[in-house]
Amino acid sequence: MVTKTEDRACPAPDAGAEAFSRPAARFGDDGNLEVRASAALNCRRALWYAATEYEPTNPPSEDSLTAMEAGNALEPVMVRAMERADWKVDPADPLNPQPVAVRVGPNMVVAGHPDGTVRMPHDGDNTETDTLQMFLFEGESDWLSYGKEMTVEIKTRGPEAFKRWRTLGAERSHPASVAQAAFYTLGKFGQMRDAVIATMDTGSRTWDFEVIPAVRLERALQDACEWLGEVAAHHVLNGADPDALPERDFSAGSWQCRSCPFLDVCLPGSAEEVEETQVEEEVSDEEARDAVSAYTEAQDAIKEPEKAKRAALKTLKAWMRRYRDSKATVGGRTVSVVTSKRYSVNYRKLNELLDPEVRADIVTEGESEYVRVS
Ligand code: SF4
Repeated sequence: MVTKTEDRACPAPDAGAEAFSRPAARFGDDGNLEVRASAALNCRRALWYAATEYEPTNPPSEDSLTAMEAGNALEPVMVRAMERADWKVDPADPLNPQPVAVRVGPNMVVAGHPDGTVRMPHDGDNTETDTLQMFLFEGESDWLSYGKEMTVEIKTRGPEAFKRWRTLGAERSHPASVAQAAFYTLGKFGQMRDAVIATMDTGSRTWDFEVIPAVRLERALQDACEWLGEVAAHHVLNGADPDALPERDFSAGSWQCRSCPFLDVCLPGSAEEVEETQVEEEVSDEEARDAVSAYTEAQDAIKEPEKAKRAALKTLKAWMRRYRDSKATVGGRTVSVVTSKRYSVNYRKLNELLDPEVRADIVTEGESEYVRVS
């Protein structure tokens, strides 16, 4: 199933009008199973449902469609932001995006439409700078200051997901995006090279980027090909039989299942299992309503005192500054100006320098659960 990287790029299917509305997987006229690059790490059973044309039982909600459209609408904003930061961006034409395709096996192709390509402004130690370009344009600083052309994946994420990506790096937080960038890079250039994932925080509307080195993209590509190889083998064994379903990759409760368009036909996890995890403490609806009222009442009660506390501290800070003092006794209480240092980690540099496995030892992830009432 595994072929040499350079041999995998192949002619892409036509872009056509339905470039952005293709199903996650489908059987082409030639019998090949064509998987959308953005769905390469999807649940393999869900890919099979899509390819064999099961009717989605849980189409995206209006809210998720709005979020998706907002994400798409922000792409040009992101492009302009990168250009303002001196990147050279060649975005895909939204009316005629250029398709790329990569062969994963004799009967499977992964295809998609890259968001575009970028050249990074040269900061003086970019080893990727195109030496031929340096030779040709010697003396023309505008040309000398850019690195090699790379594919760019433009993403928009909510504040939590944005923070997670920045902290953990794309391979750990959003491996599907890295696999997608790997397929696009190989499909576009016929060989692996560094790629950029540029992400906008939809909350603060700030953006950042991560360069994924070619060697790590190659690894992401191998992993994705292995993952998809099982569907390809399933296809060889069963043809396009809609009743021969691959195993489920996820279980009830996972976000993959919760947002799966085929949830009601797949029914992951037995009813008993789901019930077992839910039995914790019997709380009636009435008690839940009372809890929300009690919470709101308590919240309102502390609002004013908190505001008064903040105003008093602001006054005291100004007063201490006036006397350039860091400690004083007022009305029998000690008032101090406390200075603390803040340390920050440049996650972009860290993520670029370290492999995901090494990072996992350094930047660890824990999970906590709390209830928020808004
Ligand atoms: S419901 Fe879950 S297990 Fe079933 S196809 Fe969807 S993602 Fe896969």
